[in-house]
Amino acid sequence: MSIHLILQEVFGYGAFRGPQQAIIEHVVAGGDALVLMPTGGGKSLCYQIPAIAREQAGQGITVVISPLIALMHDQVGALDEAGVSAAFLNSTLSFEEAAQVEKRLLRGDITLLYCAPERVMTPRFLAQLDSLYERGKLSLFAIDEAHCVSQWGHDFRPEYRALTVLHERYGNVPRIALTATADTLTRADIVERLQLQDARLFLSSFDRPNISYTIVEKTQATQQLLRFISNEHRGDAGIVYCQSRKRVEDIANMLCDEGIAALPYHAGLDTKVRQANQDQFLRSEGIVMVATVAFGMGIDKPDVRFVAHLDMPKNIEGYYQETGRAGRDGAAADAWMCYGLQDVVNQRRMIDESPAGEEFKQGLRGKLDALLGLAEATDCRRVRLLHYFGEMSQPCGNCDNCLQPPAVWDGTDAARKLLSTIYRVQQMGGSYGAVHIMDILRGKATEKVTQRGHETLSTFGIGAEFSEQQLRGVLRQLIAIGAVAVDAQAFNTLQLTEASRAVLKGEVPVQLRASVSTPADRKAKRGSTASAVVKAPPSLDAGGQARYLALKAWRAEVATEHNLPAYVIFHDATLVAIAERAPQSLDDLQGLSGIGAKKLEAYGEEVLQVMASV
Ligand code: ADP
Ligand code: ZN
Repeated sequence: MSIHLILQEVFGYGAFRGPQQAIIEHVVAGGDALVLMPTGGGKSLCYQIPAIAREQAGQGITVVISPLIALMHDQVGALDEAGVSAAFLNSTLSFEEAAQVEKRLLRGDITLLYCAPERVMTPRFLAQLDSLYERGKLSLFAIDEAHCVSQWGHDFRPEYRALTVLHERYGNVPRIALTATADTLTRADIVERLQLQDARLFLSSFDRPNISYTIVEKTQATQQLLRFISNEHRGDAGIVYCQSRKRVEDIANMLCDEGIAALPYHAGLDTKVRQANQDQFLRSEGIVMVATVAFGMGIDKPDVRFVAHLDMPKNIEGYYQETGRAGRDGAAADAWMCYGLQDVVNQRRMIDESPAGEEFKQGLRGKLDALLGLAEATDCRRVRLLHYFGEMSQPCGNCDNCLQPPAVWDGTDAARKLLSTIYRVQQMGGSYGAVHIMDILRGKATEKVTQRGHETLSTFGIGAEFSEQQLRGVLRQLIAIGAVAVDAQAFNTLQLTEASRAVLKGEVPVQLRASVSTPADRKAKRGSTASAVVKAPPSLDAGGQARYLALKAWRAEVATEHNLPAYVIFHDATLVAIAERAPQSLDDLQGLSGIGAKKLEAYGEEVLQVMASV
């Protein structure tokens, strides 16, 4: 079969997306490839179609290396549903089950074999690969989540380092490595560690146009989150990221108390509980997962409608990766973050207190600064985000700053007064934290101020016209541009830096947002296109809506029966297409996006019955 025919017959899709075709042609022809594509871009097909095509050409099996043991079952299930022979080998299988898979493997009964990296290193498995290789039945290696090889991210897996054995031992078997991590350091690391110097690089745009970015100032974080979910995402599936395990538990409880179905996920939970919560999130609709960054890699649930950050991530890579889990289906989704001065201080402290070397820490601080810059931005968030990954773009019209340009005020004067105050107290021989400095500036003669004689400073009270909130904004901005440093070793005291001087001299303008947009305003601005798409497809008339709901109910039953997430049976978009067409025959069903030959055969009649019953 040609690759186009495989796309249509097996996966039920009409056309390739973006660079898929070029990648697939290159790999089918035996080339090595490094694929950098954003989440939801369609990486899986880039190795699944070559695997099928090469197997049909008699070249044998494709081995997919993936760190996501907990998800292999669903991945293999999805291929099964599409009529592709697939299996997995990992520690969740019993000895007998594994032996069964190995038998199929040596018989050549498997097109795609998923396995964990540590398995690849076992002599037993290598012997099996040797045997396939000698018979010319080892077709392709796909290394998924390839960024796990890099120490830069938080997903580092030492076993990935050993994957060079594939190249060394099976020299002429092509390899395709894939990742959604965009930064150049990680990319260079992948090339070096996996020895992909000769692989062709396929770099996609990292824009996710259907994700709307919003960053708000933290006032009462939990209330803000609650309002965001209640106003904009009632009943939607979403992920809420928090910094600590305790906070995860607290927020999950709070949401449940408010009638929002939420589950916790963090590394401190029992493995069984964690797995059960993940399964429930994948299999049910409308669950909010409250999690630490331990959650999310490889989660290919397509209908996650929002990702919220209650605490600031460490850097833009993390922010991009985590927010990228929203809206894989291409429908409108929200990335929402609230952050405040305390986040900045905490992140700085974590870096300062880490045992890493100074050079490494400097790198981390630089990355944090870039994220602060994004958070403080008064212009298009997407332009900044993409710029960070080396892409130029125009204002997007789908972020908070584009939808509701913030009123800005000139904080240059306030910034200079703040810096002068820090300077003056230092001259008197002390370093102080934000609260004290702001008290002096606003002319508050607190006990601490008078005890130290700070009411005599020339800057005492010269910032009385500024509110504390305004000054906090100025301070965040100054920290963001590196004009103030927070000394975590000394009670988070504020210090001047090299960059302070230019601000003091008035050479660097400090622009600040004056008002915080309210969710209600945002919604009105954005119109009705937003997050309602999946819940009640606006394109459907009353009859279509009824058919859609009936199909959903049917799909839920089938999914439970097969022990698979619902979207593995049919995507929401496919249900919408069926509801729209109101098919009366198998011919009517054929050619709808997401319905391949196997699914037509397996479910066609049932779908027609559902249609007849509405
Ligand atoms: P990634 O691994 O890059 O995050 P996936 O491979 O999971 O993305 O694909 C994201 C979604 O897009 C999946 O639901 C997949 O079925 C769908 N998809 C991929 N390629 C196509 C295509 N050419 N046409 C339609 N849908 C596609
Ligand atoms: Zn924008």
